[in-house]
Amino acid sequence: MPRRFIPYGRQYIDDEDIGGVIKVLKSDWITTGPRIDEFEKALCKYTSAKFGVAVNSGTSALDIAIACLGLPKNSEIITTPFTFVATPNAILYNSHRPVFCDISEDTFNIDPREIKKNITKKTRAIVLVDFAGQPCDIEELREIAEENDLYLVEDSCHSLGAEYKNKKVGSLADITIFSFHPVKQITTGEGGMAVTNNEEHAEKMRMLRNHGIDIDVQKRFGPNTGYAYDLKLLGRNYRMTDFQAALGISQLKKLKKFIVRREEIVKTYNSHFKNIELITTPTVRPYNKSAHHLYTILLNSTISRDEFFNKMRELYIGVNVHYIPVYHHSYYKEHMTVSASDFRVSENVYKRILSLPLHQGLEERDIKYIVDSVKSLLKDRE
Ligand SMILES: *Cc1c(COP(=O)(O)O)cnc(C)c1O
Repeated sequence: MPRRFIPYGRQYIDDEDIGGVIKVLKSDWITTGPRIDEFEKALCKYTSAKFGVAVNSGTSALDIAIACLGLPKNSEIITTPFTFVATPNAILYNSHRPVFCDISEDTFNIDPREIKKNITKKTRAIVLVDFAGQPCDIEELREIAEENDLYLVEDSCHSLGAEYKNKKVGSLADITIFSFHPVKQITTGEGGMAVTNNEEHAEKMRMLRNHGIDIDVQKRFGPNTGYAYDLKLLGRNYRMTDFQAALGISQLKKLKKFIVRREEIVKTYNSHFKNIELITTPTVRPYNKSAHHLYTILLNSTISRDEFFNKMRELYIGVNVHYIPVYHHSYYKEHMTVSASDFRVSENVYKRILSLPLHQGLEERDIKYIVDSVKSLLKDRE
């Protein structure tokens, strides 16, 4: 037995990260200062995007990304039900209507064929989610978007560092958003960023994160400025602190190493599970490089996932279910008419899927313990 619970995801923070944070705490700017610019530039350099807007969460990044498009109220925005609730919630914050489309059987990403079926005169955008760290088929989606005059927003909260045909996510869609929650590849505690190549969108998002005010905070509080500012849009306070940005800068330097480690763990899991008939291991398409946010297995339908889940938790292994399809949540049931039977693949996957722990801090003995536990529980079933 391990001495402690093994979570499915966890931050990895070292003394260098902590040193960077302390330095900022002792400096003049602890929020909206020079570290924010530095973090934005560093992430842009990494992803090849032109502009970055750092905010206090991935959810806030999604909110301003959708808001900056300036779509008419009640626009239909196509998205996946197989995601964290933050994705469609951000559509609702902006008074638009999420339209869910079923997912592909191999990647669990939104199925382009389903998107085509659901486009109407009111459709204005598609919000993609790169499930588990694997990019969506962006070329195919871009074609659909161009034909139908739709914006593409990529929720890359799982996929920082992932590549589609040798291109990093970040400049594939019109706007791409990232989260730096502790379970994601790199962390700032809470935090997020929206990146884009469109300068107008970037400027609008900058205003929206700061109430809708037109002047940069650093300029407003500098020595040679007046008191005047103008509220141009109705924004919110979504600002990130400089000590969070310092943590992000330091973490970003290690991202490559983190992904390599995640990849190693995925390979170990795959090699142990590939010959077990009761388990289907995850599929990554040959032209994709996953950032490996989650390691999900599908259990054979003869096994009760919930029973398996409980037994793993009893063994102190932090398995999880990603995701309960969004339309199952009470709020969505109350506010939308969606029938689960319209989502054959999502429903089937939801009943069988299980996430095993995957993060850069997992130790070899943890991995062995997890593999052995899975194998022995399944042996009992045979
Ligand atoms: C984590 C996550 C979010 C939200 O990010 P926060 O930083 O927690 O607000 C949104 N979408 C997906 C797919 C996520 O995994």
